[in-house]
Amino acid sequence: MPAAVYVGEGSILVEDVACPEPGPGEVLVEIAQCGICGSDLHMVLERFAKPGAVLGHEWSGIVASAPSGSGWAPGDRVVGNPSPGCGRCRPCRRGRPSVCLARAPVDYLDSRGAFCRYKAVAADGLIRIPDSLSTKVAALAEPTAIALHAVRIGGVEAADRVLVTGGGPVGLLIVAVLRAHGVSDVTVSEPSPVRRQRALDVGATRAVAPDALVEPPMGALVEEPFAVAFECSGRASAIETALGQLDNAGTLVVVGTGSEPPRVNQNRMIIFELEIVGAYNYNEDGFQPAVDLLASGTLPIEFLIEPDDVPLDGVMGAMERLARGEIPSKVMVRPGMSYESGLSYE
Ligand SMILES: [Zn+2]
Ligand SMILES: [Zn+2]
Repeated sequence: MPAAVYVGEGSILVEDVACPEPGPGEVLVEIAQCGICGSDLHMVLERFAKPGAVLGHEWSGIVASAPSGSGWAPGDRVVGNPSPGCGRCRPCRRGRPSVCLARAPVDYLDSRGAFCRYKAVAADGLIRIPDSLSTKVAALAEPTAIALHAVRIGGVEAADRVLVTGGGPVGLLIVAVLRAHGVSDVTVSEPSPVRRQRALDVGATRAVAPDALVEPPMGALVEEPFAVAFECSGRASAIETALGQLDNAGTLVVVGTGSEPPRVNQNRMIIFELEIVGAYNYNEDGFQPAVDLLASGTLPIEFLIEPDDVPLDGVMGAMERLARGEIPSKVMVRPGMSYESGLSYE
C-alpha cells in the first residue's frame, strides 16, 4: 500500500510499504482522512522522526475487515479511541489519566501512523462515527479531544478573560472549544494576518500581533490581565510573554511543543501565584465527548478545516506551508486520493 514515509533529512516520500496484517482482536481500517498535527511538523522538519516512520495520528476511516464477534463490520465508519488510564497509578489516582504510567504508547512514537492507506487497530480501540457527522469532520476528533483536555486542565470559567498564543490549528480549536463552553472573552495573539483573521472567524473576541502584548511592569500586572492563557505556538518567547499577561492566581497551559526552552520569571510566579501546567493527551472519557461536540454542529467547522484535502504526495508541501503560517487551519490528508508520484493503487 502507499504510505507517506519519513525518509530522513527532514523529508517525506510516498513509498510502497507492506499492508498491515491485523493481529488477533484487530480490525483493518481504511484511512479516510488524517489531519496533519503540529507534532508531525516537529517530527519531520526538526528531524526527530526515525527514518522509515509513517506519521499521522488524527485519523478517521472505514472498517475494511473485522474479526467475527468484534462488534465491527466492513463499512462501519470509525475513529480511534485512546485506552483509558489504569486507575491505579499515581497520575490516575490524582485524576490525570492522560499521563497514566500504564498507557499505550501514542501513535506518533511507535511510528505506525495513518498517512497511509490501511491501519490495523484493536477492536476495542475504536468508536463509531454518528450518522450526523461526516467522516472527514470526524478526523478532527483527536485534536478536539486535545483542546477539550487543555481547557479542562486550565480550569477556565465562563467569565474568565482568556489568552491564546498561536492561532494555528490547535489554537483555533481551543478558541472554538472555549466559545462552545460559554467563554466570551478570548484574545488570540498570532503573527500571521491570515491566522488572525481566521481566529476572529472561529469566535475570538480580539486577534492581535504578538507585539501588541506589552511587557508587564516589574512587580505589577498588565492593565488587562488574563485569568488563563493557552500557549499553542511552541515558541519560547510566546511562553515568556503569556506568563507576563496573567492575573493573580493565573494559569498558563502549555499545549504547543517546541525545541527552545523559555526563560521563566520566577518572581512573577511567586508574587502572583502563577501556575504553569502542560496539557498532554486527552481526558479520561477519551474521544467520545469530542465526537459528540463535533456532531452537535456548534463548532464553526468551515473555519477549522481547510476545504481542500491533500493526497499522500502533498503531505510534505502542506507541512512546509503550515510551518510558515500560510495555512490557518487543519489540513486533511486523504490517502485514497490520486497523486502524481507514480504508484498506482486503485
Ligand atoms: Zn495531534
Ligand atoms: Zn494509570
